[in-house]
Amino acid sequence: MRIPDIMKSRMSVSFEVFPPKADKPLDPLMRILDKLYTMQPDFISVTYGAGGSNAGRHMEICKSIADSGKTMPLSHFTCIGSNKDDIRRQMDRCLELGIDNILALRGDIPQGWEGTRGDFTHASELIAFLREEYGDKFVIGMAGAPEKHIEAKTFAEDIAHLRMKQDAGADFITTQLCYDVEGFKWWMDTIRKTGVTIPIDVGIMPVLNKNSIIKMCLSMNGCSIPQPLAELISRHYNDSDEDFRKYGIEYTTNMVYEFMALGINGVHFYSLNKAEAVLEICRNCGLAYRK
Ligand code: FAD
Repeated sequence: MRIPDIMKSRMSVSFEVFPPKADKPLDPLMRILDKLYTMQPDFISVTYGAGGSNAGRHMEICKSIADSGKTMPLSHFTCIGSNKDDIRRQMDRCLELGIDNILALRGDIPQGWEGTRGDFTHASELIAFLREEYGDKFVIGMAGAPEKHIEAKTFAEDIAHLRMKQDAGADFITTQLCYDVEGFKWWMDTIRKTGVTIPIDVGIMPVLNKNSIIKMCLSMNGCSIPQPLAELISRHYNDSDEDFRKYGIEYTTNMVYEFMALGINGVHFYSLNKAEAVLEICRNCGLAYRK
């Protein structure tokens, strides 16, 4: 079944991994993938370095997921630094390797650049191009920012751009990390009212380490740390990393339940290339062996 059809029929469960640096071996990630497969995920996504810095490894990992026969790969792709021919080459290669799910992104503009230095300025243009060139050969996912993309001045503006991506041909939304479940609910209700009807897959960044959480929310994403999470961090600020992780897993488990209660269409765990914590959260939430 295709990803949006799964999400329309029941809540999907999926993971994200990232390619290791070029000088690091791939084997550890392959062992992590083997562990993630035990949860029977609907798909596993593989991140893409803006400008294609890790394109070779990225493709190798996607192919290995496709070849495993255990689940489908979702290949992230950004249009930073790419012209139409570059994109065609990458997409043709994907199809040759049996990769037909693309998360179509603009990517973060590297520091010091003005614009994308490619043929497209925004993800909506990339999505429209993929649809025009490839018809229904690809399932196309798009990014959504429940707390507003950092560059957008207003929610209204960002949501209008989200709608443009759907209208350009995207099949589902995967969201940026978000700990503010109330805020997420407002965003979900609002985008539905503006005619965004495609499935919403919530990006879940597990709470495992207090410093990483603070950095991830504040360094580039502009995501809030809601009061209950701030309280958890304060209460356990001086705990060992191991103890904090235990409370964080409990916190994340409850947060996933809250998202599930909103009727979301999928949960997408940012695994950070570690299997144990996300598998524990999935088991806690009753997501194991659900098929
Ligand atoms: P866009 O949809 O183009 O939006 C970017 C900004 O432009 C927004 O503020 C939007 O409101 C505005 N905008 C959009 N269309 C228009 C328009 N027509 N006119 C004016 N303004 C407009 N980055 C990576 O480099 N590699 C990855 O693998 C990766 N994976 C990601 C996975 C997920 C689930 C998410 C949520 C993000 C991921 N990112 C990744 C980060 C992403 O590339 C950045 O958030 C990037 O800054 C924006 O990408 P986008 O696709 O949302 O861009």
